[in-house]
Amino acid sequence: LGITMLAALGACGGTRSTRGTGSSEAMEKGGTIGISMPTKSEERWNKDGNNLKAKLEKAGYKVVLSFADDKPAQQNADIENMVNKGAKIVVVASKDGTAVGPAVEKAKDAGAKVIAYDRLIMNTKAVDYYATFQLEQTGVLEANWLIDQLGLKSGAKGPYNVELFSGSPDDNNAKFFFKGAWELLQPYFQSGVLVSPSQHGGGVSKDFKVADWQKISVQSWKTEQAQKDMESILDSTYAHGEKLDAVLSPYDGISQGVINAIQSKRPDMRPNSDNWPKITGQDAMEIAVSNISKGLQGETVFKDVNKLADAVYDMILEIAQGKNVSGLNGKFNNNSVDVPSKLLEPQGITQKNLADLVKAKYLTQERFDQLT
Ligand code: BGC
Repeated sequence: LGITMLAALGACGGTRSTRGTGSSEAMEKGGTIGISMPTKSEERWNKDGNNLKAKLEKAGYKVVLSFADDKPAQQNADIENMVNKGAKIVVVASKDGTAVGPAVEKAKDAGAKVIAYDRLIMNTKAVDYYATFQLEQTGVLEANWLIDQLGLKSGAKGPYNVELFSGSPDDNNAKFFFKGAWELLQPYFQSGVLVSPSQHGGGVSKDFKVADWQKISVQSWKTEQAQKDMESILDSTYAHGEKLDAVLSPYDGISQGVINAIQSKRPDMRPNSDNWPKITGQDAMEIAVSNISKGLQGETVFKDVNKLADAVYDMILEIAQGKNVSGLNGKFNNNSVDVPSKLLEPQGITQKNLADLVKAKYLTQERFDQLT
C-alpha cells in the first residue's frame, strides 16, 4: 500500500521539473555543508544530525553541524555562521519554521542551496527542497490504533473519554499530524461515541476544527508542559475515579508527560489493566520503547531517521554534482512556494512489532534488551 501511495503521489505531484531543481554549478569535493538542528534535548535530532554528518564526511565533505537549543535566534546565528564558513548547501530542521526565514534568505543570497529537513520552512521562497515523512500519515496511524483499541469499528457505543494533544505551535508538522488524526476521530465525536470531557484547550467538541489545533498544543513539544497540562485535566475532570479511556499524543515526549501525570494523580490506574488509557506517540524514542514494553504507552510512530539521512544525503550529492534532484515524490506549499519534496513512510509500532526497531537497525539488539 505504501509503495502505491508514493507512486500515486509521484504521478500527481509532477515536481521533478519544478523550479529550483538542478544546481547551476557543481560543488567541489571537500566543500562545506551546514546542518542546523533545532535542539539536542530531543533524542531524534542528535541521531539525525550525527547520521547525516557521518555520511557526508565519509564522502569527503566538510560539515558544520549545530544544535540551536530550541532558540530561533540561536538557529539563525548558526545558519549565518555556516554560510560565513563557506557552506554551499544548508540543511535545516527548524525550531520555528517561520522565524528561520530571514536566515535561509541570507544563505540563498550568498549562493547556497537550502534543504528543509523534516520540518518545512515557512513563508519564504528561499527553500529549494524538503525531505520528511508523510506527515498526516503519522496522525492516521495514531488515530487508527485508538479506533482499533476502543473497538469503534465493531460498533462499540461508548461514550469513551479521550483527551487530545497536538505538537508545538511553531512547527508546521504538528498541524498535519493533528489533521491526520482528527479527520478520523471527528466522526466518532459527531456520533457521540467519543467525548473529550475536560476543558483542555477550551474544550474539544464535535465542532472542533483542524485549524484549532494550536489550542491543544504543547509548546516546544516539552514533556514538562504536557505533564502540567495533563495534571490539570486530571484535577479538573478525572479527580473522582472517572474513567480516562484514551489520550491522543503526537510525540513520545508528550506521552511521557501524560504518563507522569497519571502516575502522580491517579495511582489507582494500573498499566496493563482495563483502567489504563490507550496512549499514542511518535518517534520510537528509547523511553517509549521501554514504556511500550511495560504497557504504559500503547503505540508509537517509527520514522526511520537513517532513511531520512540517506534521502537527504542523495539530494546533497546530486546538488553538489550539479545534477537534477531525483526521486522527489510530492510537494508542500509553505505559503510562498511549492517546495519539491521527498516523502518517506512512517510505521506504527506496538508491543507486537516492537522488535522491528532492531530489524531496521534503529536499535541494537543489546540496547533493545536493556530497554525492554
Ligand atoms: C518531528 C517529529 C518529532 C517532533 C518533536 C516534529 O517536527 O517531525 O518526528 O516527534 O518534531 O521533536
